[in-house]
Amino acid sequence: MLRLKAAEIPEEGLAVNVTDMSWFPRREVPHQGKVRAELFLKRRSEKVFVTGSIKLVMLLVCDRCLEKFELPRELDFQVVFDLSGEDPALQVREHECDSDETDVVFLEEPVIDLGNTLAQQVLLAVPQKKLCRTDCPGICPECGEDLNEGRCDCGGGTVDSPFNVLGRLLDKQKK
Ligand SMILES: [Zn+2]
Ligand SMILES: [Zn+2]
Repeated sequence: MLRLKAAEIPEEGLAVNVTDMSWFPRREVPHQGKVRAELFLKRRSEKVFVTGSIKLVMLLVCDRCLEKFELPRELDFQVVFDLSGEDPALQVREHECDSDETDVVFLEEPVIDLGNTLAQQVLLAVPQKKLCRTDCPGICPECGEDLNEGRCDCGGGTVDSPFNVLGRLLDKQKK
């Protein structure tokens, strides 16, 4: 059901509530709980317009403190499949998912791989910088203790870590 011939899309459009989760890039994107994916497809002459949304909770490891944390994400996206075959390169053009641009995918065959489309959106949505919170102090460079739990005993790195300095600057700006 995740591979669809363009001819199978009815005039009035087609809503797909994706229950088959075989598309999900499990290995690359660990997640927690249920993933919800909904799509709406509409065909206009040589183009298929896909609007979709994916809801999931990613399970990431913080770059600073190395603790696991949950990141709920709601991804809304639009992809246009071009069935005209007019583009000589037949290339898939990719954009960042949070940009306002719509992806245009040129197809050699009029078969739309929705699983591929969904997986790509999820992969693009993994943040480059994974932080459990924006001001995560990380671990002490001296003793390796998680500074989220409070100051460590050695006191190393806490008082004047760049994050604390930044925090103080931000506090000043607020006043
Ligand atoms: Zn952290
Ligand atoms: Zn320490």
